[in-house]
Amino acid sequence: MEVKCRRLEGKVAVVTASTQGIGLAIAQRLGLEGAAVVISSRKQKNVDEAVEGLKAKGITAVGAVCHVSDAQQRKHLVDTAVKNFGHIDILVSNAAANPSVDGILEMKESVLDKLWDINVKASILLLQDAAPHLRKGSSVIIISSIVGYNPEPALSMYGVTKTALFGLTKALAAEMGPNTRVNCIAPGFVPTRFASFLTTNETIKKELIERSTLKRLGAVEDMAAAAAFLASDDASFITAETIVVAGGTQSRL
Ligand code: NAP
Repeated sequence: MEVKCRRLEGKVAVVTASTQGIGLAIAQRLGLEGAAVVISSRKQKNVDEAVEGLKAKGITAVGAVCHVSDAQQRKHLVDTAVKNFGHIDILVSNAAANPSVDGILEMKESVLDKLWDINVKASILLLQDAAPHLRKGSSVIIISSIVGYNPEPALSMYGVTKTALFGLTKALAAEMGPNTRVNCIAPGFVPTRFASFLTTNETIKKELIERSTLKRLGAVEDMAAAAAFLASDDASFITAETIVVAGGTQSRL
């Protein structure tokens, strides 16, 4: 997809879990629209490769290793942004885990803790670190999921953590306004590594496509386009909202 507009010129974006999939697509789109991007994930090699790929597209990019549940690495991510660019305008909280397909009543406490830590708590703690560096007019974007509306088998507790992000978005928007807008994206099913256990199973894939009004899976670029809009001044009167990018898949709580 050719990106022609430069809505984010002069802005600085930090994106977690952004060396592949939706996070990388978001970082790339923000970068192509003019933002300097700070990307991150758990593995140095992935960070280096993603930074090189972004730079090859003419994007100003730096990287930091950041496992979102590691306090020191979260600080390192924020420090990397501030040292390189002085401030933060856009923060995309994109990391998530789904370590088990067990039902909620069978789920081990350690798995419940991990789901809460990575999918919810890490976003809060990262924002606590980043908040002093967010400029007036900044935009926080939290990546939830269509499954937050319909926590279904194999994704049930993961879905509940994604439901929590809808509330977190509202609460943070109230706390961080008027200088910072906080919004959320609920992607539909996108064929990434994370969702491969669903999207590579032909029966499940067909069923997911059937559920959508537009009769297709999502693309990482669909999520990136929504993030770029929310990050831009085109969304300057939008806060505390969740945009569902799921091709019409049912999305009522
Ligand atoms: P993905 O393609 O598998 O990419 C995951 C990325 O996250 C990689 O860059 C990985 O790099 C990094 N990562 C994994 N665990 C991390 C951690 N603890 N801390 C920091 N980085 C981490 O996944 P995706 O499908 O794009 O998912 C991204 C987000 O979209 C998640 O919040 C997910 O819940 C949401 N989502 C996805 C779908 C879907 O269908 N794909 C649907 C709805 C919502 P390293 O291995 O180097 O850490």
